[in-house]
Amino acid sequence: MWVLGDQLNPELGALAGASPGTHRVLLVESLSKLTSKRWHRQRAHFVIASMRRFVDELRDAGFEVDHRRAHSLRGGLAEHRLEFSPDSVVATEPASWDALQMLRAEGVELVQSNQFLCHYDDFAIWAGGKKRIKMEDFYRWQRQRLGYLMTPGGEPEGGRWNFDDENREPPPRGGSKVWIGPQRSRLDGLDQRVLADLDDAGVGTWGDDPDGTWATSRRGALARLHHFVDLVLPEFGPHEDAMVESSWHLAHSVLSPYLNIGLLLPGEVCDAVQEAYDAGGVPINSAEGFIRQVIGWREYVWGVYWLWMPDYRSKNELGADRSVPPAFTGEAPTEMNCVTQCIGGLKAHAYNHHIQRLMVLGNLAMLHGVDPQEMTDWMWANFIDGAEWVMLPNVIGMSQWADGGMMATKPYAAGGNYIDKMSDYCRGCRFDRKQRTGADACPFTTLYWDFLARHHDRFVKNARIARQVRASERLADLDEVRVRAVRVRERLAAGTL
Ligand code: SF4
Repeated sequence: MWVLGDQLNPELGALAGASPGTHRVLLVESLSKLTSKRWHRQRAHFVIASMRRFVDELRDAGFEVDHRRAHSLRGGLAEHRLEFSPDSVVATEPASWDALQMLRAEGVELVQSNQFLCHYDDFAIWAGGKKRIKMEDFYRWQRQRLGYLMTPGGEPEGGRWNFDDENREPPPRGGSKVWIGPQRSRLDGLDQRVLADLDDAGVGTWGDDPDGTWATSRRGALARLHHFVDLVLPEFGPHEDAMVESSWHLAHSVLSPYLNIGLLLPGEVCDAVQEAYDAGGVPINSAEGFIRQVIGWREYVWGVYWLWMPDYRSKNELGADRSVPPAFTGEAPTEMNCVTQCIGGLKAHAYNHHIQRLMVLGNLAMLHGVDPQEMTDWMWANFIDGAEWVMLPNVIGMSQWADGGMMATKPYAAGGNYIDKMSDYCRGCRFDRKQRTGADACPFTTLYWDFLARHHDRFVKNARIARQVRASERLADLDEVRVRAVRVRERLAAGTL
């Protein structure tokens, strides 16, 4: 039985039906995968350390485990077959399109995955025949089907499906708010060996060393789930979309990495939240906002990935062709405080929350014109919870509008005013969010108006953004904005902004 590096749970798919007496388990650390990207150090450590701890757990449970380091996944399987001549190899359905093709080509028998609450075949049935699919419709279908936050009469708890209006509060002013941080564990010998192996392989050359924030075992992930539900969840909702200099996590769960490599399963996470809500300790806007992230957004992204692959990954509707700027990759400092804050958080923790990803980094990439595939790859390599299935729809669809509106009805473009509304970044910045021309003009604001003007014909009939597009036509200084936008793009590309 072959267990892939993002399927680290004894209750998952094929492994749930296995026993030590009947199955030998194969796990492969692939050197070509490890060297395929410039992985963030903590990201590379997280995956490899979690795999090795899982190997130990399986052995403790009595399984014979063939844990290999091979040039590639395929190579590891070939070596395993050569050594053990198994009658058959079985695996849980993988989480990537390419891995699925590879497993099929290798004749591996596949067992349906339960890593998501809605299998992609069921998602395709749900989506079938619909002229346009919407996350909100899918989410309500999931709520009804799964029963989370539903009354016995079949109505949504709190009388509404959506509490977003209560969950978009700006950051608390004054900087005195204390956010409860995630748990941390002490690193041990296994962690040190993983880091030494990464150094030997020349992997994980960017990003700070792990500091124990990210658990690398199921036990650690479960402890973090309970820490979040018991202490942090009640505060999750109101400031879900806020960004502050003083905290990289605010009241976010930071559980996504565990869900994405199998250390936690979505059902147990949602059950814990439902239980806390039923016990009366969690307000509905926090419980609903969190359940929406897990059974709504996360599962929707999973479903559309499989619905639209493989063509989806080459979408580039806006014809963007620039590289990820040096200010993102850490190759150059920047005076844009919002970017400094996000990249500083990324370097320290391999993590930014969704609004930092969407409205700062993704937004600037789209306004600048970064190649969407390059942006996807960069995010996939640097975020602790990265995977192709999650990054493609979020980057190609949500943040870069590279799919021409399949995911989002309008591009998530914003100038400095929006970032100022949702963060405390602008007050410490040398640029002026209100200015769009001149040496002090906020690069976001300049590029925002330039973006609307450049794509005028494409968006002027889009009801959700037409008003702003028309406003760009009326700017008295539009020519100046465009001149400055060229300069901003040059300096972003050169790493001198
Ligand atoms: Fe970012 Fe502009 Fe605000 Fe500076 S002024 S923090 S560049 S949005």
